[in-house]
Amino acid sequence: MRITALAGGVGGARFLRGLRAHLDRTPELADSTVTVIGNTGDDITLFGLRVCPDLDTILYTLGGGVHEGQGWGRADETFRVQGELAAYGAVPQWFHLGDQDFGTHVVRSQWLGQGLSLSEVTARLAERWGLPQQGVTLLPMTDSPVETHVVVDEGEGPRAVHFQEWWVRMQAKVPASRFVAVGMDQATAAPGVLDAIRQADVVLLPPSNPVVSIGIILGVPGVRDALRGATAPVVGVSPLISGAPVRGHADACLQAIGLESTTAAVAGLYADFLDGWLVAPEDEGTVTGLPRLAVRGRPLLMTDVDATADIAGAALDLALELKQR
Ligand code: GDP
Ligand code: CA
Repeated sequence: MRITALAGGVGGARFLRGLRAHLDRTPELADSTVTVIGNTGDDITLFGLRVCPDLDTILYTLGGGVHEGQGWGRADETFRVQGELAAYGAVPQWFHLGDQDFGTHVVRSQWLGQGLSLSEVTARLAERWGLPQQGVTLLPMTDSPVETHVVVDEGEGPRAVHFQEWWVRMQAKVPASRFVAVGMDQATAAPGVLDAIRQADVVLLPPSNPVVSIGIILGVPGVRDALRGATAPVVGVSPLISGAPVRGHADACLQAIGLESTTAAVAGLYADFLDGWLVAPEDEGTVTGLPRLAVRGRPLLMTDVDATADIAGAALDLALELKQR
């Protein structure tokens, strides 16, 4: 089976690891391939290096190198380089980059500087983390530089800051009025992205942030149209349980675009292409007004790989059920 998934960082990566575990434990699905379309709106240039947080979280998680407790960054990390940068007064200091993590950003920046595209660079990084051996292809949503900026007002009038500054430095506590995907008007989908949606047997939306992860990917020219026209069923997993994000600030993101923080509102954002929606049991009756959407309730906490594999299995089962219709 050809599975295509759209993914942000931690929520996306954990779901994908569970998906791979489910495929591996299911003999008739074991030779399935997974193509991941990753969000690059979080990307930022720091200390002259290109950092792609969501792509790296997926690489580290699938490759077994992630800091489990944190969900991002490397396990057993040290911060000596950041300490040296601080000693020089180099900024910003609010974005934490470990020494091993720096290695990724250095080599990525080197290869980009040699003229490789972000897709080509990501494929090289994925080799090191063993994704091809798992049947997983990680595609950045676009090779064009796109950065999500956030319009905030700290009392001195509106100004735009990089998404990471709002998310990490401000902890999403300063109210946001708008998200702007800077560069998107010039962007095209990366090679393979639109075909991965058109040729998939199943399209999955992991429980990633609906606004600043999935929402940004949906803004890449052609992606939304490809999803609307896809022959494959599109099944999503809610990132909200009883209206609250399991982690992160999806509620603040939804509020910024004028929506309630509910799983129904998230489904509404995908209504033009979504066929199936997994929600937490307590949310099952709350998604109304979308008669075409098949809603199923089940526990959605990705507490460990096994529990996550069960969630991914349920998403695939729903997709296969919808395929027979
Ligand atoms: P980020 O880029 O690191 O913020 O990660 P994503 O965009 O991929 O995912 C963030 C979303 O994952 C948040 O909105 C969380 O609510 C959601 N999430 C995290 N853990 C879980 C979980 O165990 N279950 C569910 N259903 N959602 C989760
Ligand atoms: Ca992210």
